[in-house]
Amino acid sequence: MQWTDRTAAHGTIVLGVSGDVGATSLGELRRPVSRYLAQGHLAFVMDLSAVRYFDWSGIKGLAGLRLPVTGRGGTFGVAGGSSVRRAIVSSRFEHALGLCPTPGKAVLACAPEPFLRADQSVCDWCGAVVPTGERVDEIVRDSSAEYPGDPLLEGARTVVGCGHRHVTALVEHYGARPYSEVEAWAARVDRVVEDKGESFSGLPLADAVGLDLGQLRRALAWRAGHDVSSTA
Ligand SMILES: [Zn+2]
Repeated sequence: MQWTDRTAAHGTIVLGVSGDVGATSLGELRRPVSRYLAQGHLAFVMDLSAVRYFDWSGIKGLAGLRLPVTGRGGTFGVAGGSSVRRAIVSSRFEHALGLCPTPGKAVLACAPEPFLRADQSVCDWCGAVVPTGERVDEIVRDSSAEYPGDPLLEGARTVVGCGHRHVTALVEHYGARPYSEVEAWAARVDRVVEDKGESFSGLPLADAVGLDLGQLRRALAWRAGHDVSSTA
């Protein structure tokens, strides 16, 4: 696991994590969180959008980081891609952990009071407020991006920067994450299953997601927590 820290709007600390995470590796962040708490920072966002694989042990790790923050009356938010979202939602921790689709949205959600006007956006890297006309958008290839419903946009995530420097940082951040076709298929399955229910399966599901049965099996294995992309 690798991590970075940055300070966003209202002194919110954004901890960006990549690589493999679990309860033990996330425990490495307890020390920086304590240090920031001692400095008076009370809002924390865990940016897990570059994390490739995430399961129950990661949730335990997040809960361990959240506790000292909320214990001091602070706020805690999490942003992540499809495997992070799936693990957190299926464990029903989305409200407790403050799950948001992007780091920028998590920074907004962690603020003590709403601060964004309709003509403003939030930088996904630093969490700074930027007039919408000045923000810089870029599309990055990210197999964990929520499936948009449009096949052309599969595995594409729009990131928002306050300027070219931070958009470049975001592109590098997501570029470090390996792209997995199976993960992108799993996001497709997520979308259909969300609509039709977990009992919708087999050939009808394969047809609905546009995969053959072999591909569907691999996508389902991924969803069940078995990373089979290495055998692709
Ligand atoms: Zn920025």
